[in-house]
Amino acid sequence: MAEIYGNHPARYQVQVHPGLKLAEEEISFEEQKKYLHEAGKLAAKVREEVAKLVVPGANVLDICTAADKLIYDAGAIPAFPINISINDVAAHYTGQIQDSLIVPDKGVVKIDCGVSINGFIADTAKTVDLDGSYKDLINASKEACEVAIKTMRAGANLGKIGGLVAKTIRDAGFEPVRDLRGHLVERYIVHAGKSVPSIEVDTNEQAELHEVYAIEPFASTGTGEIHADLNKINIFRAAPVRLAIRSKHAKKIRNIAVREFGGMPFAERWLLNHGLTIPEIKIGMMELRRNGGMIEYHVLRGSSEDMISQHEHTMIVLEDGVEVTTRS
Ligand code: MN
Ligand code: MN
Repeated sequence: MAEIYGNHPARYQVQVHPGLKLAEEEISFEEQKKYLHEAGKLAAKVREEVAKLVVPGANVLDICTAADKLIYDAGAIPAFPINISINDVAAHYTGQIQDSLIVPDKGVVKIDCGVSINGFIADTAKTVDLDGSYKDLINASKEACEVAIKTMRAGANLGKIGGLVAKTIRDAGFEPVRDLRGHLVERYIVHAGKSVPSIEVDTNEQAELHEVYAIEPFASTGTGEIHADLNKINIFRAAPVRLAIRSKHAKKIRNIAVREFGGMPFAERWLLNHGLTIPEIKIGMMELRRNGGMIEYHVLRGSSEDMISQHEHTMIVLEDGVEVTTRS
């Protein structure tokens, strides 16, 4: 998933959910690395397996369900619902309950997949070319991601990396999507506050030793502008605030969102696997959304004629470079 620029109105939004009881264990850097690489390896596998399923005529919900199964079968949980974003949709589309959306014959499909093992997160994406017409667009975001990876290290200026990302995409003849950024990743937190822009930004913000980042350039055939689709919200997260909840369905959803989904982003389809019916999910989610119990991720899109590609890897920052966890 990508972070939307300016979407952190308050620091509390990036805290671990207070209902999530974390063991107060010290986890050594070596052990953290082990979990991060395990998560990365699985996320890369899911990304590549799902890419084979993204073919014209395939049902998007079926693809998402297959991805969920690969992750749960491996003993991990998704760090967020897999995003399957088609053509002008940049990000945050995932299969809805009873979703009938079909992969079209032409265009590009972004597969953005997250895995959590013990709260240690991998976040990775690639773009599939449905009819072979968008090789250059896809190479542009891929190359920009690689340039950023090569530049990243302890002390690297995040704004300068943004400049390199933008230059790489523009040199290829496309526009970076300026409002979507890479992001710092922390335990149980996909978007942990610091971000890696896709344009040059004048900032002193630097990557620090042993931080984890997901870097994800998006390239567009259009102006690079995107907007939230106000009618489409597919992904939610339990807001890290204490709430008075009335209905038992809302209470149950809240508990599942915190305990089972680790306070991380989730899709309503997952609630079906936890003993809730479709009407119960509707009622419970309505109450939670009305009283501020849910953070909502709108589907993000460019203009209707835009084609948008994305590539993303997760990496651990070292003194002299990075260890990418999500290579296949
Ligand atoms: Mn991301
Ligand atoms: Mn992602």
